Amino acid sequence: MQVAVFSTKSYDREFLAAANAAHGHDLTFLEPRLTPQTARLADGFPAICAFVNDQLDAQVLLMLARNGTKLIALRSAGFNHVDLMAAEQLGFTVTRVPAYSPHAVAEHTVGLILALCRKLHKAYLRVREGNLSLEGLLGSDLHGRTAGVVGTGKIGTIVAQILAGFGCRVLAYDLARNPAIEAFGGRYVTTDELFAQSDLVTLHCPLVPETYHLINEEALARMKRGVMLINTSRGALVDTRAVVRALKSGKIGALGLDVYEEEADLFFEDLSNRVIQDDVFSRLLTFPNVIVTSHQAFFTRDALEAIARETLANITAYEQGTEPRGLLTPARAMAQAK
Ligand code: NAD
Repeated sequence: MQVAVFSTKSYDREFLAAANAAHGHDLTFLEPRLTPQTARLADGFPAICAFVNDQLDAQVLLMLARNGTKLIALRSAGFNHVDLMAAEQLGFTVTRVPAYSPHAVAEHTVGLILALCRKLHKAYLRVREGNLSLEGLLGSDLHGRTAGVVGTGKIGTIVAQILAGFGCRVLAYDLARNPAIEAFGGRYVTTDELFAQSDLVTLHCPLVPETYHLINEEALARMKRGVMLINTSRGALVDTRAVVRALKSGKIGALGLDVYEEEADLFFEDLSNRVIQDDVFSRLLTFPNVIVTSHQAFFTRDALEAIARETLANITAYEQGTEPRGLLTPARAMAQAK
């Protein structure tokens, strides 16, 4: 099948091309992000393959439909960037990769937590410059701390399990209980209790209208002074302006972000020779107790192999007229958000 692959980097080409040996699709790798300005690049392609910052709103979907596209194969688990209702109305089949390596994201999350706990990001730079002083590097044990995990699906449950292994007391919040959490001693509580008791809060729920700015001024007010906040899920779960204020006041003691609400124009690009125009993002980077990674949590060899394999299997199933494993419909999306 002819597939226009948007937002491709060298690693996408490498892993998709390797996995395609078993499928034989005609993949055209396009560097631009999918936007109303670039949608014409998909002219005549029956399928497109898109990533997390590609724009798949009603306007772009209409352009794709007029261009003859029928299949949208997401090479991501998250799908908050797709207007699924519009896609259904326009007759698109949409697929995603619901689970590739939840361990990749969970392990990156714990990496951020450990780095912030022990100020490894500062220590790394200092030692390289010959500054071997410990002044300012005082950390705190993770053992014995209370960790609040919001969203206990595939990723959140692994994070909770790892943190329990470190000796953390795990509190969890989700709309649906996962027995695995209680099996290793975690406890489901209300968000009020989770925010009030947690030394660290880590977000693993999807971005849906109900979770937009879940962490806002009011939620932050309910948290402990000096709380560590981690978001490796989706940027808009967090009101970044409120978080900047909370960092300035000391309410947030440490922040680890792998996602940012305005990341589409920033992440995945080398901007080292450019002036970043996003003042909120630039302010975040000035804090000594903030680590930002560029939507990197998924980025392991294992995950990229699985993403490429599953994305192409979805396309092949569609081509053969069978139901793709990663089929995504508005009803399935609603069931996922519960
Ligand atoms: P999942 O579907 O397995 O789990 C999501 C959990 O969130 C479910 O248990 C669901 O019940 C819960 N949930 C839904 N609405 C909620 C609400 N209002 N409040 C609390 N919990 C709610 O998903 P997953 O695979 O664990 O992924 C979690 C998130 O991680 C995804 O939504 C995705 O956006 C993000 N993600 C990020 C990366 C990355 O590279 N940073 C990679 C993959 C996934």
